[in-house]
Amino acid sequence: MSSENVSEQVVIIGSGPAGWTAAIYAARANLNPLCLIGVPRTNPAPVLPGGQLMLTTEVENYPGFPEGITGPDMMQNFQKQAERFGTRVRGVDVTKCDFSSRPFKLQTSEDDEVLAETVIIATGATANWIGLENELRLATTGGGVSACAVCDGALPAFRDQPLAVVGGGDSAMEEASYLAKFGSTVYVIHRRDTLRASKAMQDRVLANDTIKMVWNSSVVDVLGDKTIEAVELEDTVTGERSKLEVRGLFVAIGHTPATAFLEGSNITLDDAGYVLVEGDSSRTSIEGVFAAGDVSDSTYRQAITAAGMGCRAALDAERWLAEHE
Ligand code: NAP
Repeated sequence: MSSENVSEQVVIIGSGPAGWTAAIYAARANLNPLCLIGVPRTNPAPVLPGGQLMLTTEVENYPGFPEGITGPDMMQNFQKQAERFGTRVRGVDVTKCDFSSRPFKLQTSEDDEVLAETVIIATGATANWIGLENELRLATTGGGVSACAVCDGALPAFRDQPLAVVGGGDSAMEEASYLAKFGSTVYVIHRRDTLRASKAMQDRVLANDTIKMVWNSSVVDVLGDKTIEAVELEDTVTGERSKLEVRGLFVAIGHTPATAFLEGSNITLDDAGYVLVEGDSSRTSIEGVFAAGDVSDSTYRQAITAAGMGCRAALDAERWLAEHE
């Protein structure tokens, strides 16, 4: 446990694949890392220590698990491995950061301050949900609702079944193209009659016979008890309601990076709120502060890419400490 007047060598904020991988590398480099893993929250959508994989059932695309593994089991293994090498863990959120001088000062949700020589930000991003009760329930119980087609789309339950994607951006187009390899029909439900996605991605979707566009429509209810059976749609022009039978719903309406606690810290974020890093490194605009995983990656957003970024951040922090000793 950290005390107010001891400055930690490495503090990792976040406990998804990026955070735990950074912890494993930092601990094995004898940097005695402290990992601040966050506090569970359920409102408006569930957010748990361990990140988005805590809301995922089967993970089948992480190398090394030929039979697959559940997201929560995987995160438990990551944590065990980090702790085995001496990572210390605290179940607190960071509410405010002062990066103006070293040691850096991190305010926690328990109203104390953690001092740090280096900080690795690995707080991830959360998928945006429509916000319907049954949508969130089925998303957390393996009921056929997901925010990641690449993670879940290839599961047997979706093979040769009617599926739907919600959204009109590049992610929705990418998810629809991916799902068209498995589903019998893939409906893209969009609230307007023009897409936000780039022309090239639109063209690919519009040329695919398996994909059908459902324009000017909002999903107002998700129907089904254990698994999804249909969605209720509302026409955004006429207000008319209709039912569309589907066995899978993929919500692709954007992500929100978990960077609110960085407000006022002077760290540079991009226009969408992701932490900017220098080129291929994990270096942020503040020396000694590094970022890894989905909090600084709006493109790939996979467990394996986040883990790789966590490794880089620990190596960058280790080098930085050696140079500034
Ligand atoms: P996005 O561009 O923000 O698009 C979100 C889509 O969801 C929009 O079409 C929006 O509708 C819709 N939407 C938002 N809130 C909604 C709600 N409550 N109900 C129904 N629909 C809602 O997000 P994204 O597609 O995730 O892309 C994020 C960034 O990553 C973009 O810069 C994108 O270019 C990039 N990206 C690139 C690639 C690639 O190049 N391979 C792949 C994926 C993502 P409106 O259009 O009506 O606002």
